[in-house]
Amino acid sequence: MRTTASSGKLATKSREEINASGSVSLEIELKCPRCGGAVQHQTCSDCAFHIRTVQGIVHALPPERVAYYARFVEEYERICREQSSPPRSDKYYLDLPYRSSGSSADWASRGRSFDCLLWRVLKPALPRNARILDIGAGNCWLSYRLALAGYNPCAVDLLMNDQHGLKAAEHYQNYLPEFFPRIRADMGQLPFRDGQFHAAIFNASIQYADDVEVALREALRCCMASGLVIISDTPIHPSAKNTRRSTTGPPAPFLTDESINKLGLRLKICWTVHSAQFGSKWTLRRMYAMLRNRPEPPEFPIYAARKVPQGTGSGICKGMTIR
Ligand SMILES: [Zn+2]
Repeated sequence: MRTTASSGKLATKSREEINASGSVSLEIELKCPRCGGAVQHQTCSDCAFHIRTVQGIVHALPPERVAYYARFVEEYERICREQSSPPRSDKYYLDLPYRSSGSSADWASRGRSFDCLLWRVLKPALPRNARILDIGAGNCWLSYRLALAGYNPCAVDLLMNDQHGLKAAEHYQNYLPEFFPRIRADMGQLPFRDGQFHAAIFNASIQYADDVEVALREALRCCMASGLVIISDTPIHPSAKNTRRSTTGPPAPFLTDESINKLGLRLKICWTVHSAQFGSKWTLRRMYAMLRNRPEPPEFPIYAARKVPQGTGSGICKGMTIR
């Protein structure tokens, strides 16, 4: 299985299709991430930026952006190396996000968050075979799970490494009839033409955006009318005064309920908030922090909003709906 890019379109091919040299099963139209120009035969017709495909990964990050993110990538990968022990088996990746033995509390809550995302957000809203952008896909476990659920995911990330980045998705390729596309790209300059996706998900990723509003605008642009933009598994702090920082990655901007709400107003979208049930340990941890007068731990609600079709007014609502 591999991903191909030709005539400005991305496509996944199944093993059977490749063997038979048949037609593609999923097509995504590209645009130049540098200048927004049309892409033909993997090359921008305006600025000549060439989008390469290497070992199945589409490289849509211009060299100047590679240089811009070099320090972030280096720092993130250093932290990941310090916190994990390579190499890992297919089973490790296939079990995500439901690791049971030796898994951290983070992964336990990720499993519950994913269940909420799949059953309470995606299933009621999207058709089977929906195209879904997985923005900040990391090792692509979410794309794998989305593919198993009958969707057509497209994984986007800056990281390339074989443990936490796009190369790690190779652990999944023998377990899917069709392998999903993987694109190295900047979430603030997505290399896709407008309106192609049913949904775009930032799962544990939007806190690393250079500019959260720009990233959300890009996701909305790539979604079709009434498409869903979703923020999930992301720490939402009760107050900007809460100064506890993540220890699992480089410094990230603080997102609060208030800041997400303000973003919704600026983007003219109406968030629906879904609260996953994280269990009694989670509740006790929060109560303990309150009793000790410690900073309240962040929450991990799921925010979902529909793209408002042009010419139909805004989706501004007076308050967020909590489900
Ligand atoms: Zn260009």
